[in-house]
Amino acid sequence: MRKKIVAGNWKMNKTLAEARALTAEVIQLAKAELSGQASLILCTPFLYLHEVNSLLVGTGIAVGAQNCSEHDSGAYTGEVSAIMIQSLNVPYVILGHSERRQYFLEGGALLAKKVDKVLAAGLTPIFCCGEPLEIREQGTHEALVKKQVEESLFHLGEDAIRRVVIAYEPVWAIGTGKTATSQQAQDMHAVIRQHLAGKYGKPTAETISILYGGSVKPDNAKELFAMPDVDGGLVGGASLKARDFIEIAKGI
Ligand code: PEP
Repeated sequence: MRKKIVAGNWKMNKTLAEARALTAEVIQLAKAELSGQASLILCTPFLYLHEVNSLLVGTGIAVGAQNCSEHDSGAYTGEVSAIMIQSLNVPYVILGHSERRQYFLEGGALLAKKVDKVLAAGLTPIFCCGEPLEIREQGTHEALVKKQVEESLFHLGEDAIRRVVIAYEPVWAIGTGKTATSQQAQDMHAVIRQHLAGKYGKPTAETISILYGGSVKPDNAKELFAMPDVDGGLVGGASLKARDFIEIAKGI
């Protein structure tokens, strides 16, 4: 069975004290109200990874980074490598988030290198793909998302692709309050899975968790997660409130 995952992407939010408080509240609510249906991941700013990871020891909740460098080490001021992340025992790294693609001009070839670095460090990439509004309106959204997956993942062998988590995040739904309908999400997740099956075979494609992201909230999570190819969510805004994050996780 595929792993069910609810990952929170805190983006560039919270002070250290707020990060500690949010983590403590997530731990307390998860312990009281969840029974391990989903793997929970908190993707914090780099600065807080070590601290949040220490707070999470023994809880079953994991921590993740939101990006990493395509290099291992060296004169790259301000960058953080997969090896450095691995040295903190942080198991997950989000790659290719639409905000990285849009504001930092990250493209498919660069992301392929980052995917390689994350896998080489023994970590799990949460690889994001998704179309902007104009592409959906043109009707070329499936072609674009397939291309994003091909460009950054299709160089991987079968063992490596099985270690990747994919997050489909339509750009028009991120931070806008506009969620894809559960059918729109399912349709794209099925397209991604079929594309993976075409390259790697159905048994491999069936092992890969594909998360949906884009204004997931407590009141729409259950319906989205009920779709057969939606294996959980990547949650932005709602992950900044422990109560909302836990209610979303209950939707699995
Ligand atoms: C995200 O940033 O990955 C995201 C899905 O954001 P939001 O849930 O706020 O739309």
